[in-house]
Amino acid sequence: MSRIPTLADLGDVRGKRVLVRTDFNVPMENGEITDDFRIRAALPTINWLTERGAQVVTCSHLGRPKGQPNPKYSMDAVRARLAELAPGVELLENLRFDPGEEANDPAFVAKLIDGIDLYVDDAFGACHRAHASIVGPPRTLPSAMGLLLQKEVEVLLGLRNNPKHPFVAVLGGSKISDKLGVVDALLKVVDSLVVGGAMCFTFLAALGNPIGDSLFEADQVDTCKRLLDESAASGKTIHLPDDIVGLDAAGNFATFGRRLPDGAKGFDIGPGTAAAFSDVIMDARTVFWNGPMGMFEDPRFAAGTRTVAQAMADTKAFTVVGGGDSAAALAQFHLDTEVDHVSTGGGASLELLELGDLPGLEALRGAPNA
Ligand code: ADP
Ligand code: MG
Repeated sequence: MSRIPTLADLGDVRGKRVLVRTDFNVPMENGEITDDFRIRAALPTINWLTERGAQVVTCSHLGRPKGQPNPKYSMDAVRARLAELAPGVELLENLRFDPGEEANDPAFVAKLIDGIDLYVDDAFGACHRAHASIVGPPRTLPSAMGLLLQKEVEVLLGLRNNPKHPFVAVLGGSKISDKLGVVDALLKVVDSLVVGGAMCFTFLAALGNPIGDSLFEADQVDTCKRLLDESAASGKTIHLPDDIVGLDAAGNFATFGRRLPDGAKGFDIGPGTAAAFSDVIMDARTVFWNGPMGMFEDPRFAAGTRTVAQAMADTKAFTVVGGGDSAAALAQFHLDTEVDHVSTGGGASLELLELGDLPGLEALRGAPNA
């Protein structure tokens, strides 16, 4: 595996136009940015370049406009925030307004790098996709990973290759089938797995528990059964909730055990489960957390995520959090500075943990200056 070039490998950047692929896919509500974490996270790389006399041109996708211009996904709000944080830095229009981005069309790559001298990839959150802006420019331009991407790679490959044990992975959120894929790989490196969020209901159903009308993926039940069997056989524990908080069939707030009545919906782990999960986190030496424990955007269902976030802050373990919503939850509880690393990539962090490489990293290793 040849080296991934770093910023220093770009040589003298003075007077050069540098295309920086950033991940400015920020959460938005009614045209306003609700959390600018991803913009602030790109500043060290942008400043490194501008301080050395480069002209920085940033580019990103935002949401899923599906290959067509759509004012709902315009970069205007991001551009305005970027102008406050990094005056004079350019930002191209949403990359996904052009179908060539996701199709990795060479004509779109040519358009992107027209007038550009150097390329920097700092979009960890998009590195698991072989899209034009990620894999195209390094084919011809001297390239580098930005400081954010470099840190992400160091931390996540460190987790994968030599974690301190006990190593615990805490999984939740709603992208169930996306995340189940990584459980296999995680079970090879972790000592135990803690499962909350919507994800737990497919596991609970696999154990034969009725789950009411909670979110679950019927076609993943067999996968969950196999994972439970395999983990038991290899002496690894998959911790599942013993109590659940949600709404009963009449729509009233209710606390349940592992078995949910007909029509009930589980929206958070219960207080007993939250305490048990905290204990596992407190006893660990490495913790990776991806996915909120419940529908934390609704204050009635935020307690489980808050308790786990507090344990992440309090434990002596090396703590890494991945996932846009998980990071937003941490920030909401003002605990984002209390963990060791908040990853800017959800899917990308899982895929790097799973496979040990990403299309974006492979592309950088093939750059002319690598
Ligand atoms: P991340 O962005 O951290 O990777 P996901 O995108 O997978 O996490 O999931 C985040 C979403 O999961 C949140 O919007 C949250 O409301 C939702 N969620 C968590 N638990 C539940 C649940 N029990 N039922 C429905 N939605 C849930
Ligand atoms: Mg998410």
